[in-house]
Amino acid sequence: MADGLIPQSIIDEVRVRSDLVDIVGDSVSLKKSGREFKACCPFHDEKTASFYVVPDKGFYKCFGCGKSGSVFDFVMEHLGMDFVEAVEHVAGRVGVEVRREHRVRPEDDPDRPYYEIAAFAQSWFREQLIAEDVGAAARSYLENRGIDAATAERFGIGYAPDEWRAFREAALVHGFDEEVMLVSGLLKKSEKSKEPYDGFRGRVMFPIESLGGKVIGFGGRILEGDAPKYINSPETPIYEKGKNLYGLSWAKNTIRLEKCALVVEGYMDAVSLAAAGFENVVAQLGTALTEAQAVRLTRYTTRVVLLFDSDKAGLKATFKNGDILLEAGLRPAVVSLP
Ligand code: ZN
Repeated sequence: MADGLIPQSIIDEVRVRSDLVDIVGDSVSLKKSGREFKACCPFHDEKTASFYVVPDKGFYKCFGCGKSGSVFDFVMEHLGMDFVEAVEHVAGRVGVEVRREHRVRPEDDPDRPYYEIAAFAQSWFREQLIAEDVGAAARSYLENRGIDAATAERFGIGYAPDEWRAFREAALVHGFDEEVMLVSGLLKKSEKSKEPYDGFRGRVMFPIESLGGKVIGFGGRILEGDAPKYINSPETPIYEKGKNLYGLSWAKNTIRLEKCALVVEGYMDAVSLAAAGFENVVAQLGTALTEAQAVRLTRYTTRVVLLFDSDKAGLKATFKNGDILLEAGLRPAVVSLP
């Protein structure tokens, strides 16, 4: 969104010219019902149709889950796009040329502080990993997992030292806003401690990137001790968990070339496979794939190979993912790892 606004007159023109029935009909089998069209809702699971498209008024509504909106809302929700992408997508269908106005100055972008602190954190974690003494244990952990220095660099992997306020101090010196760091999960606050403390401590840090390659969040794996194995960034103004796939910014071109995406469970699996030469790999960010993640993959391929642990939990997750991929129109295959 930061790279430009579409003039309102163009947005209106695209909306007026667009055919909502045509666009919804691409992915939903609509049946005519009087002046409206109806179907089983694409946003929730149902057996009888409660999803309506009203072409005269240019909106859709589901009486089951309550989802409703314009053609742009549908494209955003269904294809996992942001507003500007959705307008461009629909504009392409109706032959309207979209020019972006650059009247939003970067300093006016409300998301800017979140991108800035994420970028700062990524480079700071990176410095800690490289630092001779601080990063030694994390470096040998990565080496033992087959991740050499070059791979770690390519994925921007870093290390959050096992200290209470090392990151906070470094960030404050650089003038970053504490509130933004708290919202980003980089700092935490407890009732006991007056001063916020580092959200990630003693962890190998995996930066999560947007499709455009900006850092939007982190996954941190504990090096030792009995704290939770993984801590992930919370949802923030720039990071929506259900929409992003770890590694997609790096893997998307290879996925297109090879016409196949490998989907794994965690950061380590994705990076290890990439280190072993499988470049078309992404990881889900959560216990199961979401519909928006599956739909996002449809932009690059129709074939998806799920690589998962063959334990009971792994199998259950794999079947669930298979269903979600099928619903999005993808062809899933499963490879289970012993
Ligand atoms: Zn619904």
